[in-house]
Amino acid sequence: MQKEGTGKNLSKRVGDTEPSTDGAGAIQPFEAKTAIGKSALSRKGLADYTANPVVGCKVGCRHCAIPFTPAIRTKGRNLDELGVAYGTDWGDYSFPRTNFVAALDQQLQRMEKAGRSTLVPGFEETPAGRGITMFSINHDPFQDQPTADIVVQAIAKLLDHDRRIRIHTRMLLYRHNLNLLAHPKVKVGASIPSFNEDRLRLTEPKAPSPTARLKTLTEARRQGVATFVTIAPTTPDMAEAEMRETLDRVLTAEPEVIFWEPYNPDPVSLANLAAAGVPWLEQVESKAAWVASVMDGWEKIEAAAKATGCLDRLHIWPDHALKGYVDQARLDEWWYRPTVEHWG
Ligand code: SF4
Repeated sequence: MQKEGTGKNLSKRVGDTEPSTDGAGAIQPFEAKTAIGKSALSRKGLADYTANPVVGCKVGCRHCAIPFTPAIRTKGRNLDELGVAYGTDWGDYSFPRTNFVAALDQQLQRMEKAGRSTLVPGFEETPAGRGITMFSINHDPFQDQPTADIVVQAIAKLLDHDRRIRIHTRMLLYRHNLNLLAHPKVKVGASIPSFNEDRLRLTEPKAPSPTARLKTLTEARRQGVATFVTIAPTTPDMAEAEMRETLDRVLTAEPEVIFWEPYNPDPVSLANLAAAGVPWLEQVESKAAWVASVMDGWEKIEAAAKATGCLDRLHIWPDHALKGYVDQARLDEWWYRPTVEHWG
């Protein structure tokens, strides 16, 4: 495949808008028409808006569902023109929307004027989404330095406009921006599914070790950053003892909330995990097996949270595909539930 920013195919029309050129004449393949978009992430207690300054994620987790979502699949033809197969090349490409910060600036000004106009949509705030903008949902916001540079500028811009921000990452680059992130309107979360490094080498081979993720998050907390952790995705072969150990260790970063989600299968990640030789695929390959494994994991994480004294901070993310297979009251207990976090 061709790498970002190089190659003759970049001269073709690709992306959300007409291609543009930077000062040196290089084609910028993806531009942002708008920077932040309304999101259904309030169902998970995460946000009302998402910001995705980049197309693609070089972390390339094999369990990642993003390449199967419309956010990437709808760009399949454009990515194809760039020499990228959107599913099998996941982890090898990343195309910044280089006009992202300028588009954000314009959008924020438009939204702020909305109070004086019924024609322009203003900021919305749901009880569970709290008006938060989340970086990111379609890629890791600190996957590499070019992405981090855009994200940091965008965070500063949003804070200028008094917006709440949630950062979720598997990476460590945010450690260079703790001064900016230690702010009452910012929460920073690390994804730490387990501390079993053999397990994560199979599913997240390019991400830093879980120990390094925790160390960075703990330092962030020490410097005044409000933190959260996602234990996600757990795999069907994880024992309760492993979940207990994970919770015990992540509690040292003093997370306000600990989200839990099991692996939810999709065709692209199933193929990537099968190619890697993951040993637990049988437990998720049929709907019945997957539902059984989710409910088993749910029981284990609640028992582990009770044992480690953090049940009040545990926040479950039941997948929408469980609807009709699980008592609806159990799903309704968590969908659109505000977290226990305190926000400035
Ligand atoms: S870091 Fe997130 S977006 Fe990137 S590959 Fe991993 S799960 Fe997907």
